[in-house]
Amino acid sequence: MIRYHARWVLPISSPPIRDGTVVELAGRIVYVGPRETAPDGVDRDLGDCALLPGLVNAHTHLELTVFRGLLEDLTFRDWIVRLQALKVAVMTPERFLDSARFGIAEGVRAGITTYADTCDSGASLEAMRERGVRGIMYQEVFSPTADPIAVSDAAARLAEQLARHELFETELQHVGVSPHAPYTVSDPLFALVARSGRRIAIHIAESDAEHRFVTEGEGPFADGHRARGFPVAPRATSPIALLAKLGVLDAHPLLIHCVRVSDTDIDAIAQSGSTVAHCPISNAKLGHGIAPLLAMLDAGIPVGLGSDSMAANNRMHLLEESRIAVLAQRVRASRANALPAARAIELATLGGARALGLADRIGSLEVGKEADLACFDLSSLAGSADADPESALVFALGAEPAKFVSVAGTPKVWNWELLNEDLELHGRVVDIVTGLREHI
Ligand SMILES: [Zn+2]
Repeated sequence: MIRYHARWVLPISSPPIRDGTVVELAGRIVYVGPRETAPDGVDRDLGDCALLPGLVNAHTHLELTVFRGLLEDLTFRDWIVRLQALKVAVMTPERFLDSARFGIAEGVRAGITTYADTCDSGASLEAMRERGVRGIMYQEVFSPTADPIAVSDAAARLAEQLARHELFETELQHVGVSPHAPYTVSDPLFALVARSGRRIAIHIAESDAEHRFVTEGEGPFADGHRARGFPVAPRATSPIALLAKLGVLDAHPLLIHCVRVSDTDIDAIAQSGSTVAHCPISNAKLGHGIAPLLAMLDAGIPVGLGSDSMAANNRMHLLEESRIAVLAQRVRASRANALPAARAIELATLGGARALGLADRIGSLEVGKEADLACFDLSSLAGSADADPESALVFALGAEPAKFVSVAGTPKVWNWELLNEDLELHGRVVDIVTGLREHI
């Protein structure tokens, strides 16, 4: 048995414990409580730290890590079009894999132990497996036209990809499907994926351009479709109404973004048992707005925090994501107690686990759950964290690296050092980024 001692233990599902201990045996948590009453075992003293559940990133695109900083200040459609052109011109399967490896290395250093990753190339499943982190890779599927041949081609390609990925599913790494978004997926393809019985993740209700495309058949996405010869018409009263109409909400998908959702939409999400990945930094950086997070939480919707891609956020750090989530909601609500820090930490851990359907295994420090742990050093705060450790994590720490990280009991970071680091990866990523920059 390993006994992890910390100045603060934050179980999330119960109040913080000062001078607490988490005991791990064979990958599971067997004790959470005061140090004095912990069972015997080998001691690992983490010092003036907060020890919390491994952070759950409810939305990533690990394969896009190398695109960081290359798509700045573009309109949403231009951002997508340039990203797609660069992927085709420069990226290869091996480069996508290195990009995903680099993203996971950065995420693990930031205490992220679970990744809900939407992926076109399929690289993130292999990268998650190599690093031994937990996650769901949602295989992306696209077909913007409802032409039956295009839909059946997309479905056949998806079936072939899923059959390949299934061979690599493990206890830690799972496979789902991501019909990308309303402007890249036709109604029949949405309906087909909804009936697949798979875990589903969808980008939805993110931008004004998407809203206009769905509700009016107008705007930049509609112009793009017409230029390619695809017919365009209004499809529903809102993107969420579109998913309801097509039976997608009945499949309890993970809904990524939900910035532009009405009270009616929120009711429909809550009634269906669907969940939400809230990405406040991406939404702000791309100019999409502030999602009505408080209303979604009030409606009882399970919500996790997502960093979105490095091309949209430029960082992957869920404590920083928590901080921006709180600040944005307080700006939106004009209220100082909107989304308390403890609630924001919950979104980054247990909320994410609930949104991904993994809360029976991870998300809080409880006896019987798997030992996904993340520990952040508080010593730079000179004792002030003792007043309120949750506020310290959200407001004072910033995007600092984790001191210790484990997944199902296996250490991944020790004393801020990534264990089993691929020392040649950085150089390979520099070469990929150089290649991308030459194509801009
Ligand atoms: Zn995304």
